[in-house]
Amino acid sequence: MNKKILSVVLILCVMLAVMPMTAYAADIAFCTKCNKIQTVRATYQYADDKLHKCSVTCTVCYNKWYYGEAHIWSGTATCTSGRTCTVCGGSSEPLGHDWGTWTQNSDEKTHTRICKRDTSHTETENCHGGTATCTQRATCTVCGAEYGDALGHDFTTSWTHDDNEHWKQCSRCDKKDDVGPHTWDNGTITTAPTCTKAGKKTYSCTKCDATKIEPIPATGHSWKSDWTSDATHHWHECANENCDVTDNAGKNGYAEHSGGKATCTQNAVCEFCKAEYGEKLPHDFTAETVDAKYLKSAAT
Ligand SMILES: [Zn+2]
Ligand SMILES: [Zn+2]
Ligand SMILES: [Zn+2]
Ligand SMILES: [Zn+2]
Ligand SMILES: [Zn+2]
Ligand SMILES: [Zn+2]
Ligand SMILES: [Zn+2]
Ligand SMILES: [Zn+2]
Repeated sequence: MNKKILSVVLILCVMLAVMPMTAYAADIAFCTKCNKIQTVRATYQYADDKLHKCSVTCTVCYNKWYYGEAHIWSGTATCTSGRTCTVCGGSSEPLGHDWGTWTQNSDEKTHTRICKRDTSHTETENCHGGTATCTQRATCTVCGAEYGDALGHDFTTSWTHDDNEHWKQCSRCDKKDDVGPHTWDNGTITTAPTCTKAGKKTYSCTKCDATKIEPIPATGHSWKSDWTSDATHHWHECANENCDVTDNAGKNGYAEHSGGKATCTQNAVCEFCKAEYGEKLPHDFTAETVDAKYLKSAAT
């Protein structure tokens, strides 16, 4: 075979391979240039989903013209493949799957949908989109079924408390664990009471950090029975160390000394505290009395 002929054949084969949508046919048609029916060469090319483009060439004058023509479909469209045009070789759009609803599978983790046209067409994916809580499994946003596991509660190790109880709180929800009343210790005096003012005692829970404060009543005074006095007054001292009465006038029995009689040589003695008080009386000399005494003693 001639080398030139071989290369022409090869080029033709390549052209056929790169133009799969183009068909060739020899036919007859009216050529407007020759003004008569001539043998023509027609090629057909897919244009859109309705038409293919016919290109016609007169084999005599090489006049060339075009027109659109409806596809001539054959075969049956399926979910994934369309029908084929017997003229241009083009394909119609595939039907696409006609999916049923997503239904959860028995694994309770995945859901599947099945094509109504062909049950061998299935799609399976993981259930997703929901949020599990401590007590509730997640609900799939696609098939509406529950999937996965509930989270379970997540109780803290530290205690939470109110005035009466302590507990361990779930970090995600309102659930409480180990609820119990406080176990108070023996308390510590944080403010000591005085004779007239209440003090405070603070109790701490031995488990949690709750505290409570309770008042300690004022002790009241412990008045001594013996008297204390100064030059003018007497009173009873309070035996309590931190007594908050410092002014003697506020102490028990505070009063001026009273009772008893002063003489020229002796102070008055208070009839309550037995302390001497006041001034001695001045001597009161009179002439008659002295004379009379003197005379009387002289006479005897
Ligand atoms: Zn022609
Ligand atoms: Zn066609
Ligand atoms: Zn299908
Ligand atoms: Zn699902
Ligand atoms: Zn919880
Ligand atoms: Zn507690
Ligand atoms: Zn006191
Ligand atoms: Zn007195």
